[in-house]
Amino acid sequence: MNLNIPEEYRDFSNSVYKFAKEKLAPRAEENDAKAEFSWENWRDLAGMGLLGLPFPEKYGGSNASPLATTIAMESVAHAGADGGTTLAWGAHLILAGVPIWLIGTEAQKEKYLPKLASGEWIGGFGLTEPGSGSDAAGMRTLAERRGDRYILNGSKMFITNGPIGDLFVVFAVTDKKKGNRGISLFIVEKGMPGFSVGNNLKKMGNRTSTTSELYFDNCEVPAENILGEENSGFVQIGKETMEWERSCMIAPLVGGMQFILEQCIKYSKERKQFGQPIANFQAIQHKLADMKTMIDASRLLIYRVACMKEKAKRAMLEASVAKLFVTESAVKVASEAVQIFGGYGYIHEYPVERFYRDVRLSTIGAGTSEVQKMIIASELLKSMKF
Ligand SMILES: Cc1cc2nc3c(=O)[nH]c(=O)nc-3n(C[C@H](O)[C@H](O)[C@H](O)COP(=O)(O)OP(=O)(O)OC[C@H]3O[C@@H](n4cnc5c(N)ncnc54)[C@H](O)[C@@H]3O)c2cc1C
Repeated sequence: MNLNIPEEYRDFSNSVYKFAKEKLAPRAEENDAKAEFSWENWRDLAGMGLLGLPFPEKYGGSNASPLATTIAMESVAHAGADGGTTLAWGAHLILAGVPIWLIGTEAQKEKYLPKLASGEWIGGFGLTEPGSGSDAAGMRTLAERRGDRYILNGSKMFITNGPIGDLFVVFAVTDKKKGNRGISLFIVEKGMPGFSVGNNLKKMGNRTSTTSELYFDNCEVPAENILGEENSGFVQIGKETMEWERSCMIAPLVGGMQFILEQCIKYSKERKQFGQPIANFQAIQHKLADMKTMIDASRLLIYRVACMKEKAKRAMLEASVAKLFVTESAVKVASEAVQIFGGYGYIHEYPVERFYRDVRLSTIGAGTSEVQKMIIASELLKSMKF
């Protein structure tokens, strides 16, 4: 696979990095301490044209390719933006916006994408339920067609942007007998009758993103708000958007790891013990070397998925390999960074402490590491015929 990154992508990455370094990074510590969504960050992301990156220009986007989108999301985190902001951005752009763009009708795209791209509306994605996470097809939220609308009943759990979102791409069962081939997608807007959201859940990390339950109590959704064909929600999401999720959505982890490695290099050269910088100790050098190796491998894995997506190739196996490796690496890198910083690594004001809390979500959200291994093994067993 040719992974020569075009020169214009490097320029784009540099300008996004510079923007995030100047605007978002200086607010990271304070915003994390306040544990509030940063509307200032949101306006700045919108102003930079980052909230609708891959959408076509006629819907307010920038026509960015999967690789360009991946690189932009990596660069924002590399500059030191907080994890909650990149998580909120990913849920809005990749989990809500990309399905509407790829699966939606012309009328849905015209109605929703410009609002998402400008940041006027915030998007979210409702799959997980209180009783079904990894076994997503075991969901209980039902959608029943009545005349010109669907009536939704049930709830969704842990939904990023729940408390502040204006629209949600929501999964519901439309034919109980058909298992995962009886599930449909709906665009649910804030304010639709019977729709409400729970309180913002307090979290270990990613504190500047908001998370809540969504409730559907005889919620009335106009029939034209079905996204894609009835009963094909699961299949269409799997086919159209999974690779976006597993390259772009995890790109901030790669940028974040790079940011943290740079902090570790700086700190280990400055911090002296036994009369010399701790960078002189082989034990510290090995940690830095391991971090660099994991970061480079992670970057190549997400770029591979993005490049395959650019050529319209399916990358189910490669996407799960990337999700598994990048997230497990991020957790290891974060842990080693805290170790290099010693006691200071445990104190709030150092970014390594925040990164450690933020990345812990990554091996759980969007399919746990155990689920990724199940997918990888199943793809391998399917593909190898003896
Ligand atoms: C902060 C945050 C934000 C989130 N944002 C969203 C969002 O925007 N939209 C959304 O839909 N969801 C969201 N989620 C939900 C997230 O995707 C789920 O938490 C995740 O899929 C795991 O589901 P679960 O929590 O129900 O764990 P469970 O599925 O109950 O898993 C518990 C444990 O059992 C293991 N396990 C389960 N099944 C198997 C198996 N067959 N073999 C081996 N091990 C297994 C899991 O790997 C895990 O270790 C978010 C979660 C959090 C915490």
